[in-house]
Amino acid sequence: MATMTGTPVIILKEGTERTRGKDAQRNNIMAGRAVADAVRTALGPRGMDKLLVDSIGDVVITNDGATILDEIEVQHPAAKMLVQVAKTQDDDVGDGTTTAVVIAGELLKRAEALIDKKIHPTIIVKGYKKASDEAEKILERIAEPVDINNDDELMKIARTALNSKAVGGARDHFAKIAVDACKSIREDDRTVDIDLASIIQKQGKALTDTEFIKGVVIDKEVVHPRMPLKVVNAKIALLNAALEIKKTEFDAKIRISDPTTVQAFIDEEHSMLKEMVTKVKEAGANVLICQKGIDDLTQHYLAQENILAVRRVKKSDMEKLAKSTGGRIISTIEELGPEDIGTAGLVSEKKIGDEKLLYIEECPTPKAVSIVIRGGSKYVTDEAERAIHDGLCVVRDVIQDGRAVAGGGAPEIELAIRLREYSERISGREQLAIEAFADSLEIIPKTLAENGGLDSIDILAQLKEGHKTDRNPRIGVDVLAGKTGDLKDLGVIEPLGVKIQAIRSASEAAELILRIDDVIASKELKGEGGMPPGAGGMPPGAGGMPPGMGGMGGMPPMM
Ligand code: ADP
Ligand code: MG
Repeated sequence: MATMTGTPVIILKEGTERTRGKDAQRNNIMAGRAVADAVRTALGPRGMDKLLVDSIGDVVITNDGATILDEIEVQHPAAKMLVQVAKTQDDDVGDGTTTAVVIAGELLKRAEALIDKKIHPTIIVKGYKKASDEAEKILERIAEPVDINNDDELMKIARTALNSKAVGGARDHFAKIAVDACKSIREDDRTVDIDLASIIQKQGKALTDTEFIKGVVIDKEVVHPRMPLKVVNAKIALLNAALEIKKTEFDAKIRISDPTTVQAFIDEEHSMLKEMVTKVKEAGANVLICQKGIDDLTQHYLAQENILAVRRVKKSDMEKLAKSTGGRIISTIEELGPEDIGTAGLVSEKKIGDEKLLYIEECPTPKAVSIVIRGGSKYVTDEAERAIHDGLCVVRDVIQDGRAVAGGGAPEIELAIRLREYSERISGREQLAIEAFADSLEIIPKTLAENGGLDSIDILAQLKEGHKTDRNPRIGVDVLAGKTGDLKDLGVIEPLGVKIQAIRSASEAAELILRIDDVIASKELKGEGGMPPGAGGMPPGAGGMPPGMGGMGGMPPMM
């Protein structure tokens, strides 16, 4: 509202919430910190799991930062930015999501203290930016090359990522699967497209029974009981069209005066279907993989021709099959010819528990692989899938980049020390911001220690000693043994890219939130969102949000 010549000018719609200046900043910072607090206890090998219940009562048990934030349906706009950080981190490098969010939360907390000391947010943002750029340089310096043709080295990377996942005794098994999968799908130029590794969950048995297959596994069963269940030297037709008589788009009525006409009608339909099957047969196929439906009668004719067929196969699976069998996906049956047929050494249906899967193995270009996850319940197999995803991502990262840093908070401590040295070369108030950035990074070893039940003050002192006196950038928290140590010697290493990205995205999120000094929120529409002011299990200490901006909706109260 502005007043000119005494008349108020109203520019915002009635009911619009507006917070400005310090209030807006403080609110945003608090919301961001609340998000970081929500995931903090999940960090590291001794991190706790979270049990999340969504609005329709579905339960997820997870230790994965990105998943936690995805499930808790955050409402505050600034908090949403941190959730976005986790998503970006997950999409780009696949790991380090909790790290990124925890660092961002700490950056915000330290920024608040600086704002209290009357340092302008613009100065803080500048300092943070400088510190983050410098951090990247320092990380590049302390990173060490990894022999990517050495399985043991790749296993270390995979195991470190899996350490913090709730997969119990299956850790080594999963690490090996991640390594084997990435080795199979890597190209000569070292690129690894992890979408070529499909993951299928089948409840039953135990996580250690999870299977790795060099080939494509489709979650479909053979359509007809009289079809073969196993085809050696398979010739595969890939079809993206329905094998059924098309229904007319509008209701047409045909008046029939003579019963023989009905029969002629039916016969005509049958012969059309039969012709489709003949077409498949003539192209030389003994296996038919169809993206659409196959009706009963066609199934019957296919079975008569001894052709194995599956229907309603996912598009992504069709593409993988085309790639690995050398076949071409055809969109009308009339097009199908011998040149479109793909091959595989073996196509077979296997029974897994009560369900059946189709295995297409021994393909000419075996670039697609499959992982069939087994486990006692959906909660277990879901978390296992997330774990394997992280494993695949870190192995991919290191194959593509070839460099790693030690884990256990070692690089963060090294960065804190070096950044403080760097800050001395920067004059003015920005120096304070760079120092704050350095202090913020200590949150990682501190949290790892705390989550491991260790005395974090003691541990931090020992870490600094190791880095300063012994000048060893690999000294970190050996969480499992409850002391500090050379984490690389212990085999705990992470891809350089994961660390760089975690720090970069944490810093960017903090900078983004700090730059905001005006929040204008439109009035919520009735019936949408449905958040009464003050509702939603806001974590203690994060109150004071303006009504109508919501808290963190649907947050389970135990966090
Ligand atoms: P994020 O989502 O950030 O990957 P995690 O819960 O996976 O979070 O924890 C990652 C942190 O745990 C990293 O700092 C990593 O170095 C550390 N870590 C993993 N294994 C160990 C270990 N055996 N000892 C100490 N730290 C470990
Ligand atoms: Mg991790």
